[in-house]
Amino acid sequence: MARRADPAALLAWYDRQRRDLPWRAPPGERPDPYRVWLSEIMLQQTTVATVAPYFDRFVARFPSLRGLAAASLDEVLHLWQGLGYYARARNLHSCARAVVERHAGHFPDDPRQLRLLPGIGEYTAAAIAAIAFDRRVAAVDGNVERVMARLFAERAPLPAAKPRLKALAASLVPDERAGDFAQGLMDLGATVCTPRRPRCMLCPWRENCAAAAIGIAESLPVQAERPERPLRHGVAFWLARADGAVLLRRRPERGLLGGMIELPSTPWRAAPWVREEAIESAPAAAEWRHLPGAVQHGFTHFRLEMAVLAGTTAESFPGLWARPGEFKDYALPTLTTRLVNYARTALEPHPDPSPPAGEEADRGAR
Ligand code: SF4
Repeated sequence: MARRADPAALLAWYDRQRRDLPWRAPPGERPDPYRVWLSEIMLQQTTVATVAPYFDRFVARFPSLRGLAAASLDEVLHLWQGLGYYARARNLHSCARAVVERHAGHFPDDPRQLRLLPGIGEYTAAAIAAIAFDRRVAAVDGNVERVMARLFAERAPLPAAKPRLKALAASLVPDERAGDFAQGLMDLGATVCTPRRPRCMLCPWRENCAAAAIGIAESLPVQAERPERPLRHGVAFWLARADGAVLLRRRPERGLLGGMIELPSTPWRAAPWVREEAIESAPAAAEWRHLPGAVQHGFTHFRLEMAVLAGTTAESFPGLWARPGEFKDYALPTLTTRLVNYARTALEPHPDPSPPAGEEADRGAR
């Protein structure tokens, strides 16, 4: 039986191999909790490579938590544009304000206190507590689950195996340098114990790894089969005025894509819409024209297929009107950007005005 993995071996490896990331404090310096928190929120569901330039822009614009708390939500959403999962940006803003109001602008170091703040779940609270304050807690995300499943050859499938993998990770956290240990585990999962072809020869725990010893590392962790995400349908309305401005609207603050700007649309539902029924949700009376094809978009829990009806109006009624060249001034989620690009392409003068039936201007989930 392999010897139990030694946290000191991982720490020594981390000292040699740590990734140089924009939010990390140099060795020997205390991390800034603001930067740790900001990076952890941005990294939820998003890769390091994608986050790095957003992080740099955010800290250049908001070098401190108080600056972020004082900003408008619109400005925050605008800086966030393109990172997706916009509830994170709204929670980021609310959390900055909550830390100023409840904790005089200083993040608490207790994971239980951190969890009471907007947008901070169990993993993020543990990561902030460990990295920013060296609290002895295990921050367990998908990377760490993978390392634990392999190190201990845990064959029970995820997600049922989560509590066991978390307990195994917690059993390894050292009394000192818990923050470096957490970051070392993250780096190990990202660069060595990768989902495919783990580089076991470079691993500081190679001699202790039960899965590597019996040659099953790449098959772990086992994932339970996921049910397919349901498909929903919606119809968006591209309503243009004579001066070229198009009607937009802001989504409700709470819920999916909360506070973001979108084209008006029907509700999204399981049954496809027939044209006459969809038009009842239109923002104005118009000669609505169905653009060929549809836009496909993937959210975490469902897929969405959006048809587009285009129309023009001679009236100008109150609302959020913008010319396509001005859209960049708004915080548009990826779905809206896709719909806008799709409608503009379909409406461009074209030598052949009848694109093939069923053509899709935009496919593929984000
Ligand atoms: Fe992962 Fe291989 Fe290290 Fe085991 S030895 S923890 S499988 S990289």
